[in-house]
Amino acid sequence: MGVLVVGGGITGLVAARALARDGIPVLLAEAGPRLGGKISTARVDGLTIEEGPDSFLATRPAGTALVRELGLGDELIGTAGTRTVYIRHRGRLVPMPEGLGLVLPTKALPFARTRLFSWPEKVRMALDVVSPRSMPADDIAVGVYLRGRLGNPLVERLAGPLVGGVYGTPIDELSLDAVVPTLRVAEHEHRSLLLAGLADGRKLRAAAARRAAANPGVKPLGAFVTLRGGLDGLPAAVESSARSAGADLRTGLGVRSLARVGAGVTAEFGDGSRARFDGVVIATPANAAAVLLREPLPGAARALDGIPHGTSVLVTLAYRREQVAHDLSGHGYLVPQSEGGPIAACTWSSQKWAGRAPAGTVLLRMFVRDEGPSTSLPGPALVAAARADAERTLGISGVPTMVRTARYEGAMPRYTVGHLDRVAAVEAAMAAWPEVTLAGASYRGVGLPDCIAQGQAAAARVAERLATGEGPGEPSIAPAVAALA
Ligand SMILES: Cc1cc2nc3c(=O)[nH]c(=O)nc-3n(C[C@H](O)[C@H](O)[C@H](O)COP(=O)(O)OP(=O)(O)OC[C@H]3O[C@@H](n4cnc5c(N)ncnc54)[C@H](O)[C@@H]3O)c2cc1C
Repeated sequence: MGVLVVGGGITGLVAARALARDGIPVLLAEAGPRLGGKISTARVDGLTIEEGPDSFLATRPAGTALVRELGLGDELIGTAGTRTVYIRHRGRLVPMPEGLGLVLPTKALPFARTRLFSWPEKVRMALDVVSPRSMPADDIAVGVYLRGRLGNPLVERLAGPLVGGVYGTPIDELSLDAVVPTLRVAEHEHRSLLLAGLADGRKLRAAAARRAAANPGVKPLGAFVTLRGGLDGLPAAVESSARSAGADLRTGLGVRSLARVGAGVTAEFGDGSRARFDGVVIATPANAAAVLLREPLPGAARALDGIPHGTSVLVTLAYRREQVAHDLSGHGYLVPQSEGGPIAACTWSSQKWAGRAPAGTVLLRMFVRDEGPSTSLPGPALVAAARADAERTLGISGVPTMVRTARYEGAMPRYTVGHLDRVAAVEAAMAAWPEVTLAGASYRGVGLPDCIAQGQAAAARVAERLATGEGPGEPSIAPAVAALA
């Protein structure tokens, strides 16, 4: 019996490893020249440059648990230095109020004192405390809901740049149920979002105090973690573990089409070869999965077409420390759309993470906003825009010592309103072909821990089907893989 995993990003790698460790023959086919997908770390002139994700949430256990299982627990590091993140407001950097959760304040005082909002704007926000519940039964855009409860300034200056930025989607299109379902729970339980945030803050601080008392002298890593030597250590370790368990992982091998043959699946590869499998995990973005399902399962392909994808562009710049006037005490700044320009955020990677740049070098990670035509600007125009933004905001003189651009064209899933319904429609359509399972960032979470959890769940589902004898066909993967060699 054998399984084909399509796509060698973190989701596919995790699925392949889990299947191989279950003793199931597995072939992973990755179209690109390397494994890891969007996780990509470049090393240039002593700089460690993350060209995709630079960290992941420690609060979602699947990521840190996998890292520890792979023996990399000692490599986990939290952020360095002062954790302040700034918002650019009217051209100036204003610190985000301390104790801000994803969108709600968990402490009242810093919010009351922040210079980000005027007193009338703060009074408008505080009306939330006396407002009746307003959550609709159906999904709603995060921005639309928050504007109603807390007013426009909070959405435009904080929630938009923060949440919209993380999901690469304008906050007025972003699905509340898919992205921040906690807001629904918060309103249900507390009526007021502000009161819910403060209650949450009390709980979080009590839990942190309990952890600190139980582990005296241990400094908590914080909400975001990465690997000391670079995030590509994660896919590399999954790859090596999968190979040791017997998985066959191939790069430069795209899957061109899938077809049903009895209870099995025939795959045609980019080099024209074909092979038959008992099960398939498609761990590509949904738009690439739709291409594979267009012929054999048109209903599923149509449902997949309903999940929109955008483009992500990241420009990384390095400068000598003496070129930068700003004291860089913090982790970076976010740029609300009202500030204009194509740049959405700038992370000060050299300050945020230890070991990313040699002493005396500043490494900046500039995110281009995926709204309007900005991401379609040619590379040199984007670099010029990124440089102008950083140089103006941080008082930088002279030219960068290094520039790199990473572009993910049409490969970023957008969780717009109704996302969970679209995923349910995909799952309903896929029920007609149980040998094929979908997993990855397009469906149930874009963060690395969510992708890892989805890869593991997909492998468990396929392994279960094979073990219970439901559906798997006769031929095994072994001759198929041999034929490909
Ligand atoms: C700039 C950027 C910053 C990010 N920052 C963070 C962060 O800080 N923290 C975080 O948790 N997440 C972050 N993310 C999101 C996270 O990186 C992704 O959601 C995650 O890596 C997706 O993994 P995946 O395996 O599902 O898909 P991918 O990594 O997209 O892998 C899919 C693979 O499938 C391959 N493929 C496609 N079609 C075929 C085919 N027909 N045949 C064979 N192979 C095929 C592709 O080549 C690709 O390698 C970021 C993403 C980007 C782009």
